[in-house]
Parts: sequence; C-alpha cells; structure tokens
Amino acid sequence: MPQKFQRAHDYKHLIARWRSIARESGLVMREFSKESGYPVFFLKSKTLQETGGLYFSAGIHGDEPGATEGLVGWAEKRVNQLNRLPLMLFPCLNPWGLVNNSRTDARGRDLNRVFQHDEACAIHTLKQIINPYYFNTATMLHEDYDGQGVYLYEIQRLEPYWGEALLNAARRFLPVEPRIRIDGRKAAGGLVRRKINAKRFQKIGYPEAIYLHLHHAHRTFTVETPSEFALDSRVRAQVAIIEECVKKSL
Ligand SMILES: [Zn+2]
Repeated sequence: MPQKFQRAHDYKHLIARWRSIARESGLVMREFSKESGYPVFFLKSKTLQETGGLYFSAGIHGDEPGATEGLVGWAEKRVNQLNRLPLMLFPCLNPWGLVNNSRTDARGRDLNRVFQHDEACAIHTLKQIINPYYFNTATMLHEDYDGQGVYLYEIQRLEPYWGEALLNAARRFLPVEPRIRIDGRKAAGGLVRRKINAKRFQKIGYPEAIYLHLHHAHRTFTVETPSEFALDSRVRAQVAIIEECVKKSL
C-alpha cells in the first residue's frame, strides 16, 4: 500500500491535511460540531453564493476510507483553484466511525438515516449551515463492501442525466459494477437512477442525498466504490468522479 494511504483511518492526520489545504487555498475551515470528542469540520470557498454551488461530503460512514481519501486527494491536487470554485465541503461527517472503521457513530446510529429529524448533533448543525444554500450539485461519497465495481445513484430530475459521464470518468481505475440489482433496486451499467420513493425513506430514515435532493440541490449523486478493491484505485476513481462533476457543474 502506498505510504500516503497507511493513515486512512487516522482522523488527526486527515484534519492536518485539510488544515494545510485551507491555508494554501484560502478556503474557510470551521469546526461545527463535536462528536464523541472529535471535532467535525466544513470548508467553504469565498466564491460560494447562495445558489449555484457544489456540495461534496464524505465519511458519514466510517468504514469507507476511499471516500474521505478521495475528497482530500482531489482538494490537494486542485489546491490552487479551490477558492475560485463555489464549494461547500464536509470532509468527514463521522470521525469516530473513521477511527474505529465503523459504519455507525459511537452510539450505533447510521448518520445517513437520520436527516428527517434533529437527533444527531452534527447532522442538525449541518442542516443549519446549508440552510441558505441551493446547490447545483450535491455529491455524497461512499463505498460498498459488497461492491464489485464503481457505481452511482442519480436521483432522477434534470435531463440530460450525468450519471454515464461520471462513471466514464472512473472506468480507467475500476471496473463498472456488474450487478443488476443493488440493495433491492434495479441497476444498469453501474447506474441506479430513479425517482425518490418517499414512503421507502419514511420507513428506513432519510439519507443525506434525499434531504439534499428535497431541499438543497438540483442534482444529487451518491458515489460508491468497492471497498474490497485496492485503496489506490478507489481513491483515483473518487477523484475522477469529483473532477467530472466539477467540470459539468460550471
Ligand atoms: Zn456509505
């Protein structure tokens, strides 16, 4: 494993990397919550307006380090351009989970199922922070341990759809998910594209993507890389999708 990835579950190290990105790029970095002793941060560029921005988040599930590494890797690569892009970034929403390689937080909650209520403190504050904004795109970075390739969820709304282009960008680094059913939903060519089913989410709890789709974004994507594959390939695939998403949004 390349040296730089040996610390993929080291939250202090991750935050140190983001601090140096903030310093070099001019992005504003703020602690907005504390969860099980860990500070939670967001970053924002000076060019971000109430509309037209790009939202990226990672690490709401702590056992998906390809996502947190992908976002920080992309930001390091583009450090000189970041402040000119209209960005709102959440580098790691579940630090305790990252450190403990756990999907849930310290209290066993799946933070990606609680967006309909205000029980989890970091999520509650995140909702207040993004309250004034309506983003062009909101992209949630994830990984799937059942994944056999890279895939994504695109909530059906604006055409033309972007899912194919985003997946194409990642093909160089990972195979595209061959499964035709993912989590009980139909998939084709690595894409799960559908309208939201409010009833389903009332039952299982609202994920971040559904909340963003309903209140804060024109286009919403959930990116999934296969967490049993080599970390280096997963990170490259995540970076490629972020790049493509930025390119298409501007
Ligand atoms: Zn996840």
